[in-house]
Amino acid sequence: MEKTLVILKPCAVQRAIVGQVTARFEQKGLRLAGMKMMQLTDEILNVHYAHLAEKSFFQRVKDSMMVAPVIVCCYEGVDAVETVRTMTGATTSRRAAPGTIRGDFAMSFQENIIHTSDSIENAQVELARFFKPEEIFDYDQATFQFLYANDEF
Ligand code: ADP
Repeated sequence: MEKTLVILKPCAVQRAIVGQVTARFEQKGLRLAGMKMMQLTDEILNVHYAHLAEKSFFQRVKDSMMVAPVIVCCYEGVDAVETVRTMTGATTSRRAAPGTIRGDFAMSFQENIIHTSDSIENAQVELARFFKPEEIFDYDQATFQFLYANDEF
């Protein structure tokens, strides 16, 4: 089963929509495997956003991720990476489809509520970046048999 990383950005914490956003993943049926609040640093963001290092907005994006703590979450499910990415919506929130988290909660390119891993490989690397192994919990999901047919996992 796949695990993926979700970061509720400082804008989500400041706008007090942490509950509304995490409720969507709960409603969907994803299993919450890890969750904590943390203050991000320039050091971890240099690695996390290395693919943006040449962009003019790199420092601004990093600053926006450090203005308040974030909530980091690990969710698990069948095809969890793609499912969570679909629920996230396009980077430019103004153009994100209604029904997606960015489409329903944001207007901005930068202040777009959540980060979510964009591939299975990146999910594994990113989870290891933000969580210690003992912070990821592998308990049984009580509703599991009502979420999937037995040939789906
Ligand atoms: P995503 O978060 O959709 O995977 P990227 O990895 O390309 O998108 O970018 C990381 C983050 O950098 C975005 O979520 C957004 O906060 C910010 N960002 C990306 N492009 C821009 C831009 N052109 N202007 C401002 N912020 C941007």
